[in-house]
Amino acid sequence: MKYDYIIVGSGIAGLYTALLAREQGSVLIITKGSIDDCNTKHAQGGIAAAIGKDDSPELHLKDTLAAGDGLCDIEAVRILVNEAPARIADLVNLGVPFDTTNGEIALTKEAAHSVFRILHAGGDATGEHIEVTLSQRVRASRIQLLEDCPVTDILIEQEAVRGVRALDCHTGSTEEFECRFLVLATGGAGQLYKFTTNSDVATGDGIALAYCAGAEITDMEFFQFHPTVLHLPGVPPFLISEAVRGEGGVLRNAHGRRFMPDYAPEADLAPRDVVARSILYEMIKTGSGHVFIDATQLPRYVITNRFPQIYRFCLEHGLEITKNLIPVAPAAHYIMGGVRTNSWGETNIAGLFAVGETACTGVHGANRLASNSLLEAVVFAQRIVEGTLKETPPETAASSLNDDIHSALSPRRIPKTAPPPSLSSLQALLWDKVGIMRNRKDLTKAADILAAWQKCLPQPKDRPSYELANLVLTARLATEAALTREESRGAHFRSDFSQSSHDWQRHIVLAKQ
Ligand SMILES: Cc1cc2nc3c(=O)[nH]c(=O)nc-3n(C[C@H](O)[C@H](O)[C@H](O)COP(=O)(O)OP(=O)(O)OC[C@H]3O[C@@H](n4cnc5c(N)ncnc54)[C@H](O)[C@@H]3O)c2cc1C
Repeated sequence: MKYDYIIVGSGIAGLYTALLAREQGSVLIITKGSIDDCNTKHAQGGIAAAIGKDDSPELHLKDTLAAGDGLCDIEAVRILVNEAPARIADLVNLGVPFDTTNGEIALTKEAAHSVFRILHAGGDATGEHIEVTLSQRVRASRIQLLEDCPVTDILIEQEAVRGVRALDCHTGSTEEFECRFLVLATGGAGQLYKFTTNSDVATGDGIALAYCAGAEITDMEFFQFHPTVLHLPGVPPFLISEAVRGEGGVLRNAHGRRFMPDYAPEADLAPRDVVARSILYEMIKTGSGHVFIDATQLPRYVITNRFPQIYRFCLEHGLEITKNLIPVAPAAHYIMGGVRTNSWGETNIAGLFAVGETACTGVHGANRLASNSLLEAVVFAQRIVEGTLKETPPETAASSLNDDIHSALSPRRIPKTAPPPSLSSLQALLWDKVGIMRNRKDLTKAADILAAWQKCLPQPKDRPSYELANLVLTARLATEAALTREESRGAHFRSDFSQSSHDWQRHIVLAKQ
Protein backbone atom coordinates (compact mmCIF):
# COMPACT_ATOMS: atom_id res chain seq x y z
CA MET A 1 0.00 0.00 0.00
CA LYS A 2 1.18 3.49 -0.77
CA TYR A 3 0.22 6.01 1.97
CA ASP A 4 -0.55 9.63 1.22
CA TYR A 5 1.38 10.74 4.28
CA ILE A 6 4.02 8.98 6.33
CA ILE A 7 4.93 10.88 9.46
CA VAL A 8 8.05 9.90 11.36
CA GLY A 9 7.77 10.72 15.07
CA SER A 10 5.00 11.16 17.59
CA GLY A 11 5.73 14.34 19.53
CA ILE A 12 3.67 17.49 19.06
CA ALA A 13 4.96 17.98 15.49
CA GLY A 14 4.17 14.45 14.29
CA LEU A 15 0.84 14.04 16.05
CA TYR A 16 -0.51 17.43 15.06
CA THR A 17 0.55 16.95 11.43
CA ALA A 18 -1.13 13.53 11.43
CA LEU A 19 -4.38 14.88 12.87
CA LEU A 20 -4.56 17.49 10.10
CA ALA A 21 -3.42 15.13 7.34
CA ARG A 22 -6.01 12.45 8.16
CA GLU A 23 -8.65 14.82 6.72
CA GLN A 24 -6.82 14.66 3.38
CA GLY A 25 -5.73 11.05 2.92
CA SER A 26 -4.25 7.93 4.42
CA VAL A 27 -1.76 8.50 7.22
CA LEU A 28 0.85 6.26 8.84
CA ILE A 29 2.81 7.41 11.89
CA ILE A 30 6.03 5.52 12.50
CA THR A 31 7.71 6.13 15.83
CA LYS A 32 10.75 4.54 17.34
CA GLY A 33 9.51 3.98 20.89
CA SER A 34 6.03 4.13 22.33
CA ILE A 35 3.79 6.95 21.15
CA ASP A 36 4.62 9.18 24.11
CA ASP A 37 8.42 8.72 24.09
CA CYS A 38 9.40 12.25 23.07
CA ASN A 39 10.63 15.62 24.29
CA THR A 40 7.18 17.17 23.97
CA LYS A 41 5.85 15.57 27.11
CA HIS A 42 8.68 17.13 29.15
CA ALA A 43 7.91 20.71 28.07
CA GLN A 44 7.11 22.71 31.16
CA GLY A 45 7.00 26.46 30.64
CA GLY A 46 4.42 26.55 27.88
CA ILE A 47 3.64 27.78 24.42
CA ALA A 48 3.97 31.39 23.28
CA ALA A 49 1.24 33.34 21.44
CA ALA A 50 0.36 37.02 21.34
CA ILE A 51 -3.14 36.73 22.78
CA GLY A 52 -2.80 39.03 25.79
CA LYS A 53 -4.41 42.49 25.87
CA ASP A 54 -1.09 44.33 26.00
CA ASP A 55 0.52 42.06 23.38
CA SER A 56 0.62 41.94 19.58
CA PRO A 57 2.18 39.73 16.88
CA GLU A 58 4.46 42.68 16.14
CA LEU A 59 5.81 42.62 19.72
CA HIS A 60 6.19 38.83 19.59
CA LEU A 61 8.09 39.25 16.31
CA LYS A 62 10.38 41.85 17.87
CA ASP A 63 11.25 39.62 20.83
CA THR A 64 11.83 36.58 18.59
CA LEU A 65 14.14 38.53 16.27
CA ALA A 66 16.09 39.96 19.21
CA ALA A 67 16.69 36.47 20.64
CA GLY A 68 17.64 35.14 17.18
CA ASP A 69 20.53 37.62 17.05
CA GLY A 70 20.43 38.59 13.39
CA LEU A 71 19.89 35.15 11.88
CA CYS A 72 16.10 34.72 11.95
CA ASP A 73 14.21 34.54 8.70
CA ILE A 74 11.87 37.50 9.19
CA GLU A 75 9.18 36.12 6.91
CA ALA A 76 9.14 32.80 8.77
CA VAL A 77 8.91 34.63 12.10
CA ARG A 78 6.07 36.78 10.78
CA ILE A 79 4.19 33.60 9.85
CA LEU A 80 4.92 32.13 13.29
CA VAL A 81 3.61 35.07 15.27
CA ASN A 82 0.63 35.87 13.02
CA GLU A 83 -0.63 32.30 12.84
CA ALA A 84 -0.05 31.59 16.55
CA PRO A 85 -3.49 32.63 17.88
CA ALA A 86 -5.30 30.44 15.29
CA ARG A 87 -3.18 27.39 16.16
CA ILE A 88 -3.80 27.96 19.88
CA ALA A 89 -7.53 27.98 19.11
CA ASP A 90 -7.05 24.64 17.29
CA LEU A 91 -5.28 23.14 20.32
CA VAL A 92 -8.09 24.35 22.59
CA ASN A 93 -10.62 22.75 20.22
CA LEU A 94 -8.68 19.50 20.28
CA GLY A 95 -9.02 19.57 24.06
CA VAL A 96 -5.70 20.88 25.42
CA PRO A 97 -6.65 22.14 28.89
CA PHE A 98 -4.75 25.43 29.12
CA ASP A 99 -4.83 26.98 32.59
CA THR A 100 -7.26 29.85 33.10
CA THR A 101 -7.72 32.70 35.56
CA ASN A 102 -11.22 34.16 35.96
CA GLY A 103 -12.35 32.30 32.84
CA GLU A 104 -9.56 33.69 30.64
CA ILE A 105 -6.46 31.82 29.46
CA ALA A 106 -3.71 32.49 32.01
CA LEU A 107 -0.43 33.88 30.69
CA THR A 108 3.03 33.94 32.21
CA LYS A 109 6.31 35.53 31.25
CA GLU A 110 9.64 33.95 30.38
CA ALA A 111 13.12 35.26 29.69
CA ALA A 112 13.42 37.70 26.78
CA HIS A 113 9.63 38.00 26.31
CA SER A 114 8.65 41.63 26.84
CA VAL A 115 5.12 40.80 28.06
CA PHE A 116 3.12 37.95 29.59
CA ARG A 117 2.47 35.65 26.60
CA ILE A 118 3.12 32.04 27.63
CA LEU A 119 0.11 29.73 27.86
CA HIS A 120 0.51 26.75 30.16
CA ALA A 121 -1.42 23.68 31.23
CA GLY A 122 -1.42 21.88 34.58
CA GLY A 123 0.91 24.62 35.85
CA ASP A 124 4.23 23.33 34.58
CA ALA A 125 2.92 20.20 32.81
CA THR A 126 2.11 21.86 29.47
CA GLY A 127 3.91 19.34 27.29
CA GLU A 128 2.39 16.37 29.03
CA HIS A 129 -1.13 17.74 28.54
CA ILE A 130 -0.47 18.47 24.87
CA GLU A 131 1.06 15.03 24.25
CA VAL A 132 -1.72 13.15 26.07
CA THR A 133 -4.47 15.14 24.33
CA LEU A 134 -3.03 14.69 20.84
CA SER A 135 -2.07 11.03 21.28
CA GLN A 136 -5.57 10.20 22.54
CA ARG A 137 -7.01 11.88 19.45
CA VAL A 138 -4.66 9.91 17.21
CA ARG A 139 -5.50 6.61 18.90
CA ALA A 140 -9.21 7.36 18.51
CA SER A 141 -8.79 8.10 14.78
CA ARG A 142 -8.16 5.90 11.76
CA ILE A 143 -4.53 6.98 11.62
CA GLN A 144 -2.26 3.94 11.52
CA LEU A 145 0.45 3.84 14.14
CA LEU A 146 3.62 1.76 14.23
CA GLU A 147 5.48 1.90 17.55
CA ASP A 148 8.98 0.58 18.33
CA CYS A 149 10.01 1.03 14.69
CA PRO A 150 12.93 3.40 14.15
CA VAL A 151 13.08 4.67 10.59
CA THR A 152 16.55 3.86 9.33
CA ASP A 153 16.57 5.19 5.75
CA ILE A 154 14.72 7.55 3.47
CA LEU A 155 14.07 5.93 0.09
CA ILE A 156 14.65 8.18 -2.90
CA GLU A 157 13.72 7.44 -6.51
CA GLN A 158 14.32 9.81 -9.39
CA GLU A 159 15.31 12.55 -6.98
CA ALA A 160 12.00 12.37 -5.10
CA VAL A 161 10.89 10.60 -1.94
CA ARG A 162 9.50 7.09 -2.41
CA GLY A 163 9.14 6.13 1.25
CA VAL A 164 11.13 4.86 4.20
CA ARG A 165 12.78 1.76 5.58
CA ALA A 166 12.11 0.99 9.24
CA LEU A 167 13.39 -1.54 11.73
CA ASP A 168 10.84 -3.56 13.67
CA CYS A 169 12.44 -3.73 17.11
CA HIS A 170 10.29 -6.72 18.10
CA THR A 171 11.35 -8.98 15.23
CA GLY A 172 14.65 -7.38 14.20
CA SER A 173 13.51 -7.30 10.55
CA THR A 174 13.28 -4.25 8.29
CA GLU A 175 10.35 -3.24 6.16
CA GLU A 176 9.79 -0.61 3.45
CA PHE A 177 6.78 1.74 3.38
CA GLU A 178 5.84 3.95 0.43
CA CYS A 179 4.17 7.37 0.46
CA ARG A 180 3.50 10.55 -1.51
CA PHE A 181 4.57 12.89 1.28
CA LEU A 182 7.13 12.08 3.94
CA VAL A 183 7.18 14.28 7.03
CA LEU A 184 10.16 14.07 9.38
CA ALA A 185 9.05 15.01 12.91
CA THR A 186 11.84 13.25 14.74
CA GLY A 187 12.68 15.94 17.31
CA GLY A 188 16.05 17.11 18.60
CA ALA A 189 19.52 15.85 19.39
CA GLY A 190 20.15 16.54 23.08
CA GLN A 191 21.67 13.07 23.46
CA LEU A 192 24.77 14.50 21.81
CA TYR A 193 25.71 15.84 25.22
CA LYS A 194 26.69 14.39 28.59
CA PHE A 195 24.28 16.74 30.37
CA THR A 196 20.92 17.23 28.70
CA THR A 197 17.28 17.86 29.47
CA ASN A 198 16.26 15.76 26.46
CA SER A 199 14.68 12.33 26.49
CA ASP A 200 16.52 9.24 25.20
CA VAL A 201 14.86 9.49 21.78
CA ALA A 202 16.55 12.82 20.95
CA THR A 203 19.40 11.35 18.88
CA GLY A 204 19.31 13.57 15.79
CA ASP A 205 17.87 10.80 13.60
CA GLY A 206 15.89 13.09 11.29
CA ILE A 207 18.91 15.28 10.63
CA ALA A 208 21.14 12.28 9.89
CA LEU A 209 18.52 10.55 7.70
CA ALA A 210 17.86 13.72 5.73
CA TYR A 211 21.57 14.44 5.24
CA CYS A 212 22.15 10.91 3.93
CA ALA A 213 19.23 11.35 1.54
CA GLY A 214 20.76 14.55 0.14
CA ALA A 215 18.80 17.21 2.06
CA GLU A 216 20.31 20.50 3.14
CA ILE A 217 21.12 20.85 6.84
CA THR A 218 21.64 24.30 8.31
CA ASP A 219 22.47 26.31 11.47
CA MET A 220 23.97 23.25 13.18
CA GLU A 221 26.38 25.35 15.24
CA PHE A 222 23.51 26.74 17.28
CA PHE A 223 22.62 24.52 20.23
CA GLN A 224 20.80 26.06 23.13
CA PHE A 225 21.97 25.17 26.63
CA HIS A 226 19.31 25.62 29.26
CA PRO A 227 20.84 27.54 32.13
CA THR A 228 18.94 25.98 35.01
CA VAL A 229 18.81 22.21 35.23
CA LEU A 230 18.58 20.55 38.64
CA HIS A 231 22.03 19.44 39.77
CA LEU A 232 21.67 16.93 42.59
CA PRO A 233 24.02 13.95 42.91
CA GLY A 234 22.45 10.76 41.54
CA VAL A 235 19.33 12.57 40.29
CA PRO A 236 18.65 12.66 36.51
CA PRO A 237 18.80 16.14 34.95
CA PHE A 238 15.44 17.82 35.47
CA LEU A 239 14.54 21.22 34.08
CA ILE A 240 13.81 24.05 36.47
CA SER A 241 11.67 26.12 34.15
CA GLU A 242 12.58 29.67 33.25
CA ALA A 243 9.11 30.57 34.45
CA VAL A 244 10.41 30.14 38.03
CA ARG A 245 12.60 33.17 37.34
CA GLY A 246 9.72 34.74 35.42
CA GLU A 247 7.67 34.59 38.62
CA GLY A 248 10.47 36.21 40.66
CA GLY A 249 13.08 33.50 41.44
CA VAL A 250 16.68 34.73 41.33
CA LEU A 251 20.08 33.14 40.70
CA ARG A 252 22.73 33.07 43.43
CA ASN A 253 26.29 31.74 43.25
CA ALA A 254 27.78 29.11 45.56
CA HIS A 255 28.41 31.87 48.15
CA GLY A 256 24.76 32.92 48.07
CA ARG A 257 25.45 36.15 46.15
CA ARG A 258 23.05 37.32 43.43
CA PHE A 259 25.11 37.70 40.25
CA MET A 260 22.96 38.16 37.15
CA PRO A 261 22.69 41.98 37.53
CA ASP A 262 26.52 42.02 37.06
CA TYR A 263 26.19 40.38 33.63
CA ALA A 264 23.06 41.72 31.93
CA PRO A 265 20.59 44.59 32.24
CA GLU A 266 17.71 42.07 32.18
CA ALA A 267 19.42 40.28 35.10
CA ASP A 268 17.81 36.88 35.76
CA LEU A 269 15.60 37.19 32.69
CA ALA A 270 18.40 37.74 30.19
CA PRO A 271 18.44 35.45 27.09
CA ARG A 272 19.33 31.83 27.78
CA ASP A 273 22.81 31.91 26.29
CA VAL A 274 23.76 34.92 28.40
CA VAL A 275 22.45 33.29 31.58
CA ALA A 276 24.11 29.92 30.76
CA ARG A 277 27.51 31.56 30.19
CA SER A 278 27.18 33.77 33.27
CA ILE A 279 26.43 30.67 35.36
CA LEU A 280 29.47 28.93 33.89
CA TYR A 281 31.70 31.91 34.78
CA GLU A 282 30.33 31.91 38.35
CA MET A 283 30.85 28.15 38.65
CA ILE A 284 34.47 28.56 37.53
CA LYS A 285 34.99 31.58 39.81
CA THR A 286 33.63 29.84 42.90
CA GLY A 287 35.02 26.40 42.00
CA SER A 288 31.56 24.89 42.31
CA GLY A 289 29.69 22.48 40.02
CA HIS A 290 26.48 24.50 40.32
CA VAL A 291 24.79 27.76 41.27
CA PHE A 292 21.38 28.14 42.92
CA ILE A 293 17.91 29.38 42.09
CA ASP A 294 16.39 31.07 45.08
CA ALA A 295 12.60 30.83 45.00
CA THR A 296 12.18 30.99 48.77
CA GLN A 297 10.87 34.55 48.65
CA LEU A 298 7.91 33.55 46.42
CA PRO A 299 4.61 32.87 48.16
CA ARG A 300 4.28 29.13 48.77
CA TYR A 301 1.04 28.94 46.77
CA VAL A 302 2.78 30.38 43.68
CA ILE A 303 5.29 27.53 43.75
CA THR A 304 2.84 24.74 44.48
CA ASN A 305 0.19 25.99 42.02
CA ARG A 306 2.38 27.19 39.18
CA PHE A 307 5.12 24.58 39.45
CA PRO A 308 3.52 21.44 40.88
CA GLN A 309 5.78 19.10 38.84
CA ILE A 310 8.98 20.88 39.83
CA TYR A 311 7.85 21.12 43.47
CA ARG A 312 6.95 17.41 43.61
CA PHE A 313 10.08 16.21 41.77
CA CYS A 314 12.40 18.16 44.06
CA LEU A 315 10.49 17.06 47.17
CA GLU A 316 10.74 13.40 46.10
CA HIS A 317 14.51 13.94 46.00
CA GLY A 318 14.67 15.53 49.43
CA LEU A 319 14.55 19.22 48.45
CA GLU A 320 11.74 21.47 49.73
CA ILE A 321 12.07 24.39 47.32
CA THR A 322 9.82 26.83 49.18
CA LYS A 323 12.45 26.73 51.97
CA ASN A 324 15.72 25.73 50.27
CA LEU A 325 17.87 26.97 47.40
CA ILE A 326 17.74 24.81 44.25
CA PRO A 327 21.18 23.69 42.93
CA VAL A 328 21.27 24.12 39.13
CA ALA A 329 23.75 24.01 36.24
CA PRO A 330 23.40 24.39 32.45
CA ALA A 331 22.58 21.41 30.19
CA ALA A 332 22.00 20.87 26.45
CA HIS A 333 18.39 21.66 25.66
CA TYR A 334 17.37 22.55 22.12
CA ILE A 335 18.92 22.38 18.66
CA MET A 336 18.14 25.45 16.58
CA GLY A 337 19.64 23.93 13.45
CA GLY A 338 18.27 21.04 11.47
CA VAL A 339 16.77 20.04 8.15
CA ARG A 340 16.43 23.20 6.13
CA THR A 341 12.89 24.00 5.05
CA ASN A 342 11.05 26.86 3.45
CA SER A 343 7.97 28.37 5.05
CA TRP A 344 5.83 25.45 3.81
CA GLY A 345 8.00 22.87 5.55
CA GLU A 346 9.46 21.69 2.22
CA THR A 347 13.07 20.56 1.99
CA ASN A 348 15.16 20.61 -1.19
CA ILE A 349 14.00 17.02 -1.94
CA ALA A 350 10.59 16.63 -3.62
CA GLY A 351 8.08 15.03 -1.25
CA LEU A 352 10.27 15.42 1.84
CA PHE A 353 9.11 17.74 4.63
CA ALA A 354 10.45 18.46 8.11
CA VAL A 355 8.67 19.94 11.11
CA GLY A 356 9.29 20.58 14.80
CA GLU A 357 12.70 20.47 16.40
CA THR A 358 14.32 18.47 13.60
CA ALA A 359 13.50 21.22 11.10
CA CYS A 360 15.19 24.55 10.60
CA THR A 361 12.45 26.88 9.37
CA GLY A 362 14.48 29.96 10.21
CA VAL A 363 12.27 31.16 13.08
CA HIS A 364 14.84 30.69 15.84
CA GLY A 365 17.94 32.12 14.16
CA ALA A 366 20.97 31.84 16.43
CA ASN A 367 18.94 31.41 19.61
CA ARG A 368 15.40 30.25 20.29
CA LEU A 369 13.06 32.44 22.28
CA ALA A 370 11.62 30.35 25.12
CA SER A 371 8.28 28.65 24.34
CA ASN A 372 8.49 29.30 20.60
CA SER A 373 9.27 25.66 19.74
CA LEU A 374 5.93 24.05 20.57
CA LEU A 375 4.40 26.93 18.64
CA GLU A 376 6.70 26.44 15.64
CA ALA A 377 5.68 22.77 15.48
CA VAL A 378 1.95 23.48 15.19
CA VAL A 379 2.24 26.52 12.90
CA PHE A 380 4.42 24.76 10.34
CA ALA A 381 2.62 21.40 10.62
CA GLN A 382 -0.53 23.17 9.48
CA ARG A 383 1.33 24.79 6.58
CA ILE A 384 2.82 21.47 5.47
CA VAL A 385 -0.61 19.89 5.16
CA GLU A 386 -2.05 23.00 3.50
CA GLY A 387 0.85 23.05 1.04
CA THR A 388 0.36 19.41 0.04
CA LEU A 389 -3.19 20.22 -1.08
CA LYS A 390 -2.14 22.80 -3.63
CA GLU A 391 -2.22 21.71 -7.27
CA THR A 392 1.04 23.45 -7.97
CA PRO A 393 3.63 23.36 -5.22
CA PRO A 394 3.56 26.53 -3.10
CA GLU A 395 6.01 29.20 -4.05
CA THR A 396 9.10 28.58 -2.01
CA ALA A 397 9.97 31.34 0.39
CA ALA A 398 13.59 30.38 0.87
CA SER A 399 14.69 30.66 4.48
CA SER A 400 18.02 32.09 3.55
CA LEU A 401 20.13 35.17 3.57
CA ASN A 402 21.76 35.88 0.23
CA ASP A 403 25.30 34.84 0.89
CA ASP A 404 24.88 31.58 2.81
CA ILE A 405 27.91 29.30 2.95
CA HIS A 406 27.26 25.98 1.22
CA SER A 407 29.61 23.15 1.99
CA ALA A 408 29.93 19.44 2.78
CA LEU A 409 31.67 17.63 5.62
CA SER A 410 35.34 18.15 4.94
CA PRO A 411 37.80 15.24 4.94
CA ARG A 412 39.67 15.10 8.28
CA ARG A 413 43.04 13.99 9.50
CA ILE A 414 42.14 10.72 11.21
CA PRO A 415 44.00 10.35 14.55
CA LYS A 416 45.43 6.89 15.18
CA THR A 417 44.65 7.09 18.89
CA ALA A 418 40.91 7.75 18.76
CA PRO A 419 39.16 5.66 21.43
CA PRO A 420 36.38 3.38 20.16
CA PRO A 421 33.03 5.18 19.77
CA SER A 422 30.43 4.69 22.47
CA LEU A 423 27.47 6.81 23.51
CA SER A 424 29.19 8.01 26.68
CA SER A 425 32.49 8.85 24.95
CA LEU A 426 30.60 10.79 22.27
CA GLN A 427 28.59 12.70 24.88
CA ALA A 428 31.73 13.52 26.89
CA LEU A 429 33.59 14.66 23.76
CA LEU A 430 30.79 17.00 22.69
CA TRP A 431 30.29 18.40 26.20
CA ASP A 432 34.01 19.13 26.58
CA LYS A 433 34.85 20.34 23.08
CA VAL A 434 31.64 21.48 21.35
CA GLY A 435 29.80 22.79 24.42
CA ILE A 436 28.79 26.18 25.82
CA MET A 437 32.19 27.72 25.03
CA ARG A 438 34.16 26.62 21.98
CA ASN A 439 37.53 27.32 20.38
CA ARG A 440 39.36 26.21 17.26
CA LYS A 441 41.72 23.79 18.98
CA ASP A 442 38.97 21.85 20.74
CA LEU A 443 36.66 21.88 17.74
CA THR A 444 39.40 20.61 15.43
CA LYS A 445 40.22 17.79 17.83
CA ALA A 446 36.55 16.85 18.11
CA ALA A 447 36.09 16.97 14.32
CA ASP A 448 39.07 14.63 13.80
CA ILE A 449 37.91 12.13 16.42
CA LEU A 450 34.35 12.13 15.10
CA ALA A 451 35.57 11.48 11.56
CA ALA A 452 37.63 8.54 12.85
CA TRP A 453 34.64 7.18 14.73
CA GLN A 454 32.40 7.46 11.72
CA LYS A 455 34.91 5.44 9.71
CA CYS A 456 35.03 2.56 12.17
CA LEU A 457 31.35 2.31 13.11
CA PRO A 458 30.06 -1.20 12.42
CA GLN A 459 26.98 -1.66 10.22
CA PRO A 460 24.02 -0.78 12.52
CA LYS A 461 21.71 -3.67 13.36
CA ASP A 462 19.56 -2.55 16.27
CA ARG A 463 18.10 0.69 17.65
CA PRO A 464 21.13 1.67 19.82
CA SER A 465 23.59 1.15 16.97
CA TYR A 466 21.43 3.14 14.51
CA GLU A 467 21.14 5.91 17.10
CA LEU A 468 24.88 5.99 17.72
CA ALA A 469 25.58 6.24 13.99
CA ASN A 470 23.04 9.08 13.69
CA LEU A 471 24.55 10.88 16.68
CA VAL A 472 28.08 10.62 15.26
CA LEU A 473 26.93 12.09 11.93
CA THR A 474 24.88 14.82 13.65
CA ALA A 475 27.88 15.60 15.87
CA ARG A 476 30.10 15.92 12.81
CA LEU A 477 27.67 18.39 11.23
CA ALA A 478 27.44 20.45 14.45
CA THR A 479 31.21 20.48 14.91
CA GLU A 480 31.94 21.36 11.28
CA ALA A 481 29.53 24.30 11.43
CA ALA A 482 30.93 25.47 14.80
CA LEU A 483 34.45 25.34 13.40
CA THR A 484 33.45 27.27 10.30
CA ARG A 485 31.68 30.11 12.14
CA GLU A 486 34.53 32.27 13.38
CA GLU A 487 32.52 34.62 15.55
CA SER A 488 30.20 34.48 18.56
CA ARG A 489 26.49 34.87 17.98
CA GLY A 490 23.44 33.73 19.89
CA ALA A 491 24.03 30.32 21.40
CA HIS A 492 27.34 29.82 19.56
CA PHE A 493 30.20 31.22 21.66
CA ARG A 494 33.81 31.03 20.46
CA SER A 495 36.33 32.13 23.09
CA ASP A 496 38.80 32.76 20.24
CA PHE A 497 36.29 34.97 18.36
CA SER A 498 34.25 36.43 21.20
CA GLN A 499 32.50 39.18 19.20
CA SER A 500 29.87 38.87 16.52
CA SER A 501 30.78 40.09 13.07
CA HIS A 502 28.55 41.58 10.40
CA ASP A 503 30.37 39.39 7.85
CA TRP A 504 28.89 36.34 9.54
CA GLN A 505 25.27 37.35 9.23
CA ARG A 506 24.65 34.30 7.06
CA HIS A 507 23.88 30.64 7.39
CA ILE A 508 26.12 27.61 7.06
CA VAL A 509 24.37 25.02 4.92
CA LEU A 510 25.76 21.49 4.78
CA ALA A 511 24.76 18.92 2.18
CA LYS A 512 26.28 15.75 0.78
CA GLN A 513 28.19 16.28 -2.46
C1 LIG B 1 12.62 19.40 29.52
C2 LIG B 1 12.16 20.20 28.34
C3 LIG B 1 11.34 21.30 28.52
C4 LIG B 1 10.90 22.05 27.43
N1 LIG B 1 10.04 23.10 27.63
C5 LIG B 1 9.52 23.75 26.56
C6 LIG B 1 8.53 24.74 26.72
O1 LIG B 1 8.09 25.04 27.83
N2 LIG B 1 8.05 25.35 25.60
C7 LIG B 1 8.49 25.06 24.35
O2 LIG B 1 8.02 25.65 23.37
N3 LIG B 1 9.43 24.10 24.17
C8 LIG B 1 9.94 23.45 25.24
N4 LIG B 1 10.87 22.46 25.04
C9 LIG B 1 11.23 22.10 23.67
C10 LIG B 1 10.07 21.32 23.07
O3 LIG B 1 9.55 20.45 24.03
C11 LIG B 1 10.53 20.51 21.87
O4 LIG B 1 11.25 21.32 21.00
C12 LIG B 1 9.32 19.97 21.14
O5 LIG B 1 8.52 19.23 22.03
C13 LIG B 1 9.77 19.11 19.98
O6 LIG B 1 8.66 18.46 19.45
P1 LIG B 1 8.88 17.45 18.25
O7 LIG B 1 7.55 16.85 17.97
O8 LIG B 1 9.61 18.11 17.19
O9 LIG B 1 9.87 16.34 18.88
P2 LIG B 1 9.63 15.28 20.04
O10 LIG B 1 8.53 15.67 20.93
O11 LIG B 1 10.95 15.01 20.67
O12 LIG B 1 9.18 14.00 19.22
C14 LIG B 1 10.07 13.35 18.34
C15 LIG B 1 9.49 12.02 17.99
O13 LIG B 1 10.23 11.41 16.94
C16 LIG B 1 10.46 10.04 17.26
N5 LIG B 1 11.66 9.60 16.52
C17 LIG B 1 12.92 10.09 16.59
N6 LIG B 1 13.71 9.43 15.73
C18 LIG B 1 12.94 8.51 15.09
C19 LIG B 1 13.20 7.53 14.10
N7 LIG B 1 14.41 7.32 13.58
N8 LIG B 1 12.17 6.76 13.69
C20 LIG B 1 10.94 6.91 14.21
N9 LIG B 1 10.65 7.83 15.16
C21 LIG B 1 11.64 8.62 15.59
C22 LIG B 1 10.61 10.05 18.76
O14 LIG B 1 10.47 8.76 19.29
C23 LIG B 1 9.49 11.02 19.13
O15 LIG B 1 8.26 10.35 19.14
C24 LIG B 1 11.32 21.71 26.13
C25 LIG B 1 12.15 20.60 25.94
C26 LIG B 1 12.56 19.85 27.02
C27 LIG B 1 13.45 18.67 26.79
